[in-house]
Amino acid sequence: SIYDRHVDFPTFMEGVKRRNPGQPEFVQAVQEVAQDIFSFIEDKEEYHAAQILRRIAEPDRIVSFRVCWEDDNHNVRVQRGWRVQCNNAIGPYKGGIRFHPSVTEGTLKFLAFEQTFKNSLTGLPMGGGKGGANFNPKGKSDAEVMRFCQAFMTELYRHIGPDTDVPAGDIGVGAREIGYMFGQYKRITNRWEGVLTGKGTEYGGSKMRPEATGYGAVYFMQNMLKHAGNDVAGKTAIVSGSGNVATHAAEKLTQLGAKVLTLSDSGGFIHDPEGLNQEKIDWIKHLKNVKRGRISEYADHFTGSSFHADKRPWDVPCELALPCATQNELNEEEARELVANGVIAVSEGANMPTTLDGVKVFHDAHTLYAPGKAANAGGVAVSGLEMSQNSERISWNHERLGQMLTELMEGIHEKCVEYGTSEGGYVDYVRGANIAGFKKVADAMLAFGV
Ligand code: GLU
Repeated sequence: SIYDRHVDFPTFMEGVKRRNPGQPEFVQAVQEVAQDIFSFIEDKEEYHAAQILRRIAEPDRIVSFRVCWEDDNHNVRVQRGWRVQCNNAIGPYKGGIRFHPSVTEGTLKFLAFEQTFKNSLTGLPMGGGKGGANFNPKGKSDAEVMRFCQAFMTELYRHIGPDTDVPAGDIGVGAREIGYMFGQYKRITNRWEGVLTGKGTEYGGSKMRPEATGYGAVYFMQNMLKHAGNDVAGKTAIVSGSGNVATHAAEKLTQLGAKVLTLSDSGGFIHDPEGLNQEKIDWIKHLKNVKRGRISEYADHFTGSSFHADKRPWDVPCELALPCATQNELNEEEARELVANGVIAVSEGANMPTTLDGVKVFHDAHTLYAPGKAANAGGVAVSGLEMSQNSERISWNHERLGQMLTELMEGIHEKCVEYGTSEGGYVDYVRGANIAGFKKVADAMLAFGV
């Protein structure tokens, strides 16, 4: 019968592929999780009977809407927006909003699925969701971005709420966009409530939120290295991306005494053999957040550095690698190159930046490899703390939040070690993250019945 509750992994994946045509990223994300979960639930009849994995791999709800706005030349522009509410078993839907021309419903389904496991791993009560639009903020004026954000929120506001669904930023959505969207939500509803996280600290945002994802990815790497009897200090590191996650990862690596050699954007990467320092990082933050410029400008400004157009940084020899740009930015061949060049640890600041074949290369080489859903969970964890502070009408200080972030990342690392350690002692962090993340969500779903 097709209702046989003991379908095997290949049959399950065939079904996922059939039901999600033209959504390879979603199929990839489900496959990465399912291959670990199937072996974990082999002897656990209750999970099979309740079809838990089949249900998590089917988003609770997808809202799709038209976003209509006017550009500076008074042309009417039409875009598509979505909110994917994947799973709210353990808390309100929670996850960012992405504005990028490549965004499709499939992209957001993959991200909402990943988010469900990531949020569970943090230990905080947050379900998984993701939203976005195929809007390109690049080259748009401030006023255009404002009008787009307002139009987007005019549709989205009816589907979210502080106990329903709490969006935040992601690629293309930073402090500026959150401000415009929060303002519009408040205008429409006449309610001040913590409906978005990543807000400015003047209006309810949490201290440490901007730093949290990048710092957290480095803390996770530190935890992996420590567990293996090693350390970040004195190592060479390459980072991809140059947005909020990448710049803060580079900042923390530098503070901990690593030498950061690269950063990148969609135009290429910069290589600075001297290594970044705080002054250079501040310059990049200003370039990206205020001037909204390209990373290539770095090479014109800092002598001794070089720009490599249309290239990714993975062939620069290093001991630590942190992909902090976007999904599938590191493939099998590049993983081989990293391993051949002696990489020790990889910690993902982005969501699913390594392809399935790339992950296999790291596992076969016994590289310390942390998937995004564990390594970059510091961002959403501090978002969870922002929700707590908003509910309490209170604002915690930098020191306290820094301490909490450190402890949260330690906790996530511990869970990965608990569920991911193999007989030889090698920690499969993907397996650990998948099983620990799954178990909490699955047990909550069992409690609710069908
Ligand atoms: N977009 C971030 C992520 O991928 C943060 C989400 C949030 O803070 O809700 O986890």
